[in-house]
Amino acid sequence: MADIGILGGTFDPIHYGHLIIAEESRLKFGLEKVIFVTAGDPPHKQDYTVSDAEHRYAMTVLATETNPFFECSRMEIERPGPSYTVDTILAFQEMVGQGTGIYLITGADAVLEIPTWHQPERLLSLCKLITATRPGCDLAELEKRVPAEYLERIIFLEVPGIYISSTDLRARVQQSRSIRYMVPDAVEQYVARRQLYR
Ligand code: ATP
Ligand code: MG
Repeated sequence: MADIGILGGTFDPIHYGHLIIAEESRLKFGLEKVIFVTAGDPPHKQDYTVSDAEHRYAMTVLATETNPFFECSRMEIERPGPSYTVDTILAFQEMVGQGTGIYLITGADAVLEIPTWHQPERLLSLCKLITATRPGCDLAELEKRVPAEYLERIIFLEVPGIYISSTDLRARVQQSRSIRYMVPDAVEQYVARRQLYR
């Protein structure tokens, strides 16, 4: 069996930046599929009120349904307590078996936080870490700030730059500005219908 990719995120809301790093990783590393894991109780997002997990999961399903190689997982939503990526990777490893490699897909900003992750050593021993370029995140800066023992195990992936963040999308909706063409149409409609981020 081919390797699989895992893309974890708050997805509040999911946008084209997420979809592009998933697809580019899939193609580059010949992944059988990419599983989008919606965070339940994200330990690093205590600074604003994250939308209900069911809304974030629903948008992730809508955004990924046209790609037969994309799947969505409720694992972190249903697991009680804080969502640690290491637990998620362990659970997927158990499901797919030792013969299947796991690639954890992240953006460059997430990697800056590696030292604050739960059991980073163990996590990096369980999976390969893909770090996609992200506009606004300077790779040279990253090389200065991330310890060498982590850096040497990261696979950097250059992707077409998408200068979109969920934070900016939430602000746009709040200010009644358009998010069209930044998220799939179905996600834009979901946000409008459920009056998210107002
Ligand atoms: P927020 O602004 O709320 O933090 P976000 O846009 O960063 O939202 P997340 O759900 O935090 O989205 O991101 C999930 C993963 O996707 C992270 O690893 C993040 O680095 C990556 N990512 C998000 N947007 C992009 C982008 N535009 N380009 C590259 N990677 C991205
Ligand atoms: Mg983020």
